[in-house]
Amino acid sequence: MRTTEPDLILRVQVFRETEDEWRPTEFIIDGGVITGVRDIAPETPDPRLMAQPSPARMDMSDCYLTPGLVDCHVHLALNAVDLREAVDGWQDEAVTMTSVAKRLGAYVRAGIVFVRDGGDAAGIGLRARRMVEEEAIIGPGVVACGYALHKKGCYGEFLGPGLGNLDEGVAKLDEAVEYTQHLKICQSGLVSFERFGEVGPAQFTLDEMTFLIEHAHEKGLFVMVHTSGPEAVDIAVRAGADTIEHGYFIATETIELMAERGTVWVPTLAPLANLLARPELLHPGAGLDVIKRTVDDHKLKIARAYDTGARLAVGTDAGAVGVEHGESIYEEIEHLVSAGIPRCEVLRMATEEGRRVLGIEPVNAGGFLNSWQPGHAFQGVFYKKDPLRNALSVADIEATCLPPATDLPLRSG
Ligand SMILES: [Zn+2]
Repeated sequence: MRTTEPDLILRVQVFRETEDEWRPTEFIIDGGVITGVRDIAPETPDPRLMAQPSPARMDMSDCYLTPGLVDCHVHLALNAVDLREAVDGWQDEAVTMTSVAKRLGAYVRAGIVFVRDGGDAAGIGLRARRMVEEEAIIGPGVVACGYALHKKGCYGEFLGPGLGNLDEGVAKLDEAVEYTQHLKICQSGLVSFERFGEVGPAQFTLDEMTFLIEHAHEKGLFVMVHTSGPEAVDIAVRAGADTIEHGYFIATETIELMAERGTVWVPTLAPLANLLARPELLHPGAGLDVIKRTVDDHKLKIARAYDTGARLAVGTDAGAVGVEHGESIYEEIEHLVSAGIPRCEVLRMATEEGRRVLGIEPVNAGGFLNSWQPGHAFQGVFYKKDPLRNALSVADIEATCLPPATDLPLRSG
């Protein structure tokens, strides 16, 4: 039999955008679903709160609530230390999946409720998604691209199959529909740590890339393109990429085109900027000065994109050398803040925009931070410090409340 008392009454600080301040707020939660939200007004108690027996009360009014974070670019199969070592280790499935389970836990502890995996040739990201779906492990919702395509002989071999020609491309795209809704294509190499501005040549011509992306879109796939370098990025945008991953050395005209077309940029500062603080991780021959100059250039481009109104989302490239799973989202947030984007807007990118990129209905439809609406499952992150005024770290999290399993994106099978 159902009682009239809610299961839980929760008090926490919630940012009210219209008032531009945090306000103590009371959530009434029933069966995990919000049935009421209101300012705490002790002089007018809700009769339900007076009822006996009283429901469970949880006072977290010293905490600040935000929606769960979204990391739009991770590699669950990589170890953040050594690419070669990680790839060699994939042969041992049991050891690899134990590591992946730990990484998934690190995301939850960092307040991250969804990640998008950028692929690996061993299908580990897909297996991680299944583990979370089957509730074999607690983790964030995983959107996995599975395997990334590249042009045979070019960068991307450890991420997935190489294409010898466009017919092979069509075959691989048709296969991809079976296991993912997010397809990744590599369109350049990695940013050089030795020579400023070098990323290797564009892999696909505009015609080839347009053909691949159009076919992918016809199949209902969302296309993320790994690319840096002015020409390669421009081709990806003109060809209709949904998101540009990395995008180092992007041209000003391309930024304007992205703003016009609504293309999302996931600029991943962490894989370079983090190394400035951890030079011991650099490989021989890498120049700290080159990395510093590349990061500074990238921040200027990001600031320009923000000013131009281009869509930006937060992705860390976690698993890359020096980019730890989970915690690195706070480093990426600080890198974006230091590029000149207001902290509140960076948080919006890391929550609302991230959900949109992953194709998940935003729970907080009414706006950022102030709209946990009745009828939706309660979810969010409780911080011990004001996230709009402080640089945060994992240590500042009191608790993460994951969205219900039914909210997890793109279930397989
Ligand atoms: Zn990546």
